[in-house]
Order: sequence, then structure tokens, then C-alpha cells
Amino acid sequence: MLNGDVYDVRQSAAALCFPTEALIDGVSVAARDGTRFANISPGDGRCLGEVVAGNAVDIDAAVAAARAAFDDGRWRDQSVRAKKAVLHAFADTLAAHADELALLETLDTGKPIGDASTVDIPLAIDTTRYYAEALDKIYGEVAPPSPTRLSYAVNEPLGVIGAIVPWNFPLHMAMWKVAPALAMGNSVVLKPAEQSPMSAIRMGQLALEAGLPPGVLNVVPGTGEVAGQALARHMDVDMIAFTGSGVVGRLLMRYSADSNLKRVSLELGGKSPQIVFPDCPNFEAAAQAAAWAIFYNQGQVCTAASRLLVHCDVKADFVKRVIAVAKTIVPGDPLDPSTRFGAMISEAQMNTALRYIAIAEQEGAERLIGGSRVRQDSGGFYVEPTIFDAVNPNATLAREEVFGPVLGVIEFATDEQAFAIANDTVYGLAAGVWTASLERAHTAARRLKAGLVWVNGWDSCDITMPFGGFKQSGFGRDRSLHALAKYADLKAVTFTLGAAA
Ligand code: NAP
Ligand code: MG
Repeated sequence: MLNGDVYDVRQSAAALCFPTEALIDGVSVAARDGTRFANISPGDGRCLGEVVAGNAVDIDAAVAAARAAFDDGRWRDQSVRAKKAVLHAFADTLAAHADELALLETLDTGKPIGDASTVDIPLAIDTTRYYAEALDKIYGEVAPPSPTRLSYAVNEPLGVIGAIVPWNFPLHMAMWKVAPALAMGNSVVLKPAEQSPMSAIRMGQLALEAGLPPGVLNVVPGTGEVAGQALARHMDVDMIAFTGSGVVGRLLMRYSADSNLKRVSLELGGKSPQIVFPDCPNFEAAAQAAAWAIFYNQGQVCTAASRLLVHCDVKADFVKRVIAVAKTIVPGDPLDPSTRFGAMISEAQMNTALRYIAIAEQEGAERLIGGSRVRQDSGGFYVEPTIFDAVNPNATLAREEVFGPVLGVIEFATDEQAFAIANDTVYGLAAGVWTASLERAHTAARRLKAGLVWVNGWDSCDITMPFGGFKQSGFGRDRSLHALAKYADLKAVTFTLGAAA
């Protein structure tokens, strides 16, 4: 259906029912005080519906439902086989509604329907299946044997997990938290981003259809200030799993300190470097990667390679290649299956990108391509792929996360200089290196201070590898078996033997 022409996709979109209500204890409900917010579609600026704006009372109800579900063991105490079957059924149900979810995602975020249907939704389903498969393979530990003692350590679910997620990959990021949290036996209260609530609400409904007991997964849309804060300050929430900005990450740690010292895991953004050495094995592949690493999802990716570090000997030619790729990345209608670059999430985020573009010009960077808002007559929020050359490593564009389609090119002359510039940031999420030298690649992998290092490729890993940052890019890992640890506590149990004699 979604690979037809734009007319077919529009027809399918017109037939959709937009989710607008909270899901608490298995029931779709309005906010207790009736408050709603307008959900704007960034592709054309129209309102998709008035969505529930949950407040502290709604969060209380959702946390109480999650707590009751946890305490009575309706999910936690099911056998691993039974839980696995439900999570697989959940993945199957998501897959059966993949087209609907992709359309909701595109309408909510302005991302191309081709991306939503081939990347976002399949990866969200993959994530669910991965943790369904993992959950009956989690073992505890037995301590070295002793004639007088038997000691073992076992993972126990934490209880109620608050998941607060962003708008750039709404369902995918939600499943990075929800799937491992459920796999460990927890209950969840999910607060989607205000800009992108629809796929999260629908996912919650589909979980119920798949057999997840009511109350185990609750979804409360609302503003970060109100619903997010109430969740993060709640005395009966055991952990907050977050992806978003550093500003909010800091607040969450404060809320934790001010409330019940709940655990916090933070996946924050980055200012990731992509380093092209003169012995790059394939300049064309590197140019494709350099362009898409910043322009994919309109630059709204936490791992976006927003700093392109190129060796002075190859810079002129390489930058020409990147510009050639960028020229093929044309903003278009998100519902057109041929579009590869859509709208930014909101007018505010578009204005942020335009402000950073203006600052880069004021600070003396040389604009090579792009720089403007386009498709204004659509009513949506579009910014062209933009590249600046001669960016000073101390300039604002080299230091602050834009979260938009703006690339800064920085030249270097030696490997040491490249590593120093790459690491000269408060962030440490991802880094890329292009070289034919094993020695240089291994050295770079060791020297770069980033949670993810990619050699001769960008974003070239999947659910099987841990994902997360060093430094102010956060702590705690999503993806892989490592993600499970943060949703569990380790209990040490010791039996003294021979006491009965
Ligand atoms: P954000 O404010 O950090 O939003 C992320 C999530 O946190 C949303 O669900 C948001 O709710 C919620 N939130 C906001 N304030 C909160 C509070 N006081 N307490 C609890 N939760 C709260 O990010 P943003 O404003 O959407 O984007 C701003 C910048 O964040 C971007 O420019 C980018 O630099 C960064 N960002 C990073 C990522 C990433 O993947 N690491 C993703 C998105 C954004 P609301 O929707 O109501 O705000
Ligand atoms: Mg929206």
C-alpha cells in the first residue's frame, strides 16, 4: 500500500482514525480535567486532533495502575514462556498494523513515508522481537561453591518504569525502552513527546490486543513540563528511562534527587564527528555516508554526524562530492513515497535550525549549499540541506547541537589534530572514521571518546549492539542485552548450609 503513488498514500492517510486519548489501566480515557493540546502535522501545518494533555492526577492514576499490575504479579509472575509468547504476539500485532503505524508516524513528524515504513516501524518491531527472544535466556549467577553456603545473584524487575521519549523516532525510541522493561517483568508508564503522541498511543492499544494484561503498559500524552515532570517526580516510580535533550536530562536528575532517588538513564544528543583520512578506501561511499549521516531524518538524529573533519589534502575534492550528494536530497511531501527528505518536527525546531544557520554566517563560516526555509506554501516546516565550510572548531556550529540539517566542515592536517578536534566537545555519542589503515582505524577506535565508533560506514550496527553515550551524551545503554540491566535490580541471596543439624 505505502509504495504506491502519493495519491494512494493520501487516500490511506485520509481513512485513518487518529489516536488522541490516554491509555490508563487498559482503558482509553480523557484527562481528568479535560485538558487537550493541538497535535500539529509538520508536513502541512494542519491540526491532526486534540490530544489528551495529562496532568499530575492522570499520571497518578497511570502510576497506580502500573503499581497494582506489578504488585499482583499479573505480568511479572507469568512464566518466561508465557511472557515471551505475549511479546511475540505484540510484535506480530505491530507488524499487522505496520502501514497504519507508518502513516501515523509520518503525519505526526513530517518524516518521509518511505523512512517510516522501511526504517522506523520495522526497527520498532525488531526491537520488540529481540527482547521477546531474550527474556528466557537471562540467567542469574551462582557464587563459587562452598560447603557451608549457597549464594546466588538474581535479576529482579525494578517495578514501575517511567519512559519519556522524543519525537525524532517516536515508536522506535519508545520500543527501545518499553520492550526491555516489559521483558524484565516491569510495568511501564510511557510519556510520548508532545509533537508525536499518536504511534505511542496506538502501540499501547495494540499491546492490549496482543494479550498484555491491562495496567502493565500505560500511555499518558501531555507536555513535558506537566506530565513528564509529574512522572519523573513521582514517589512510586522506580526508574526514568529518557531520550532527549541535555537540558531535560539535568532536570530529571534533579527531580530524582528531590523525590525518591529513582534511577535515571539518559540518552542525550551529540555533536558527532565523521573523520575522513586521506587513505579513505572509498571516497564516493564516504561522501554518501557524510551527507546522509547529517541529512537523514532532516538532521534530527542524536547520532547525526554534524561535524565533518576532512584531511586538508583531500578536502576540496571530498567536499565537492558531499555537495553533489546533498543536491540530490530535495525536501518534498512526506506522504510521497519518492520523498527522501521531509519536514522538520515543528515550527520551533525549524526556527532553531535557521537561527544556527544565521549564527554560522555571522561567525564567518562559508555557506556552500542550502540555508533557507523552503516549501512554505505547503504550510509545513522545511529547511534545505545546508553545508558550511571553514567552520572554526570553537564556533557555535562546531559546539552546539543543532538537531537540524546543518553540516559544518572542519579541516585537519594530522591524526593527532583530528582526534583532538573530534574529542573537543562536551558530547560523546558517536564518531566515524574512514581509513584503509588497520593501525589508524584501531588507534582511532581507542582514542575517540564516544559510545559508538564506526569504521568505514555510518550507523552500521543494529539492535544487537549497545547504544549510548560517553560524557554529556548520557549514561545507561539502550539496545542489546546490556539494556536489560537497567530495568532490573541484582539481588544476592545466601543460604547457610547445615544450620538444621
Ligand atoms: P526535550 O525537551 O528533551 O524532549 C524530550 C522529552 O522530554 C519529551 O517527551 C518532552 O515532552 C519531555 N520533557 C520536556 N520537558 C520535561 C520536563 N521538565 N520533565 C520531564 N519531561 C520533559 O527535547 P525537545 O524540546 O523536543 O528538543 C530540544 C532539543 O533536544 C533538540 O533540539 C535536540 O537537541 C534534543 N533532542 C535530542 C534527542 C535525542 O535523540 N537525543 C531527541 C529529541 C531532541 P514535550 O514533548 O512536551 O516537550
Ligand atoms: Mg505531531
